[in-house]
Amino acid sequence: MTTSAIHPDERLRRPAGLRSLWLGDTKVSYVPDGAVQGRPGAWLPGTTDATWTVHPEYLDASGCLVASLGGLLVEHGDRALLIDTGFGPHSLPADPATPNGAMYGGALLDSLAALGRSPEQIEAVAFSHLHPDHTGWATQPGPDGDGTVFARADHLVTEPEWAATAGEDGIAALAPRVRTVTDGQEIFPGVRVRITGGHTAGHAEFVISGGGTRLIAFGDSLHSPIQVDHPEWSCVYDHDPARSADHRRRLVAELAEPGTIGFGVHFADVVFGRVGQNGPGPAWSPLGDG
Ligand SMILES: [Zn+2]
Repeated sequence: MTTSAIHPDERLRRPAGLRSLWLGDTKVSYVPDGAVQGRPGAWLPGTTDATWTVHPEYLDASGCLVASLGGLLVEHGDRALLIDTGFGPHSLPADPATPNGAMYGGALLDSLAALGRSPEQIEAVAFSHLHPDHTGWATQPGPDGDGTVFARADHLVTEPEWAATAGEDGIAALAPRVRTVTDGQEIFPGVRVRITGGHTAGHAEFVISGGGTRLIAFGDSLHSPIQVDHPEWSCVYDHDPARSADHRRRLVAELAEPGTIGFGVHFADVVFGRVGQNGPGPAWSPLGDG
């Protein structure tokens, strides 16, 4: 009989499924919606073909990076917060004119149901930023054809993100539900927002504390675990690449501190992890065994 153990590298090139962990009495769960492929040299313009010759473990059969699309459910007793809402029920074919390969969402509400939650039970939806792979389900009409999917939820957006984005197509419809939040604000028991900028004008991370551990849900500060080894590599979608890289250096150092876990929503099937040492430099060390 052969073993069915999965080679750890497999997780770098497939999207994540449902995963949960506990921080004291707070439960955090990755809520899958879908995935997007990224052409590696286009997504991370600081890399070269030689980079990917040395690191084929990050590339799928078509030579693309694999990024998960989804959200993070935070539950405390009966209360529930959702951070980001995936891409929504859409799919796009690979387009050679963009840095992306194929992109699809659609599973988020089923994933929430599998975790025992309906959209009406979400008291707040918080956004790391307002790109469409994070606002997908929030900008869908509700089941009655109007209203919103998360009918009872405040939609929390940082002040600078809302100031920069509120007038955009597809985002303006959120306005009646939006409550702006500020740096350091506690938005849910044990959950604080911190504004980083870099990726977008008001990009935010969420620091979730419980049981003596803190989890940093770092949004799009990092798109691929290879950036832990190379924080100088900004993503093509970072609106201020220098600021993004500066922040990433600090973030990677912080993730290496004791009692700290990271959550990278786009990190293939390694969304939860710690930063450890790999030879002379830092490296992403995923939690769970696949
Ligand atoms: Zn994103």
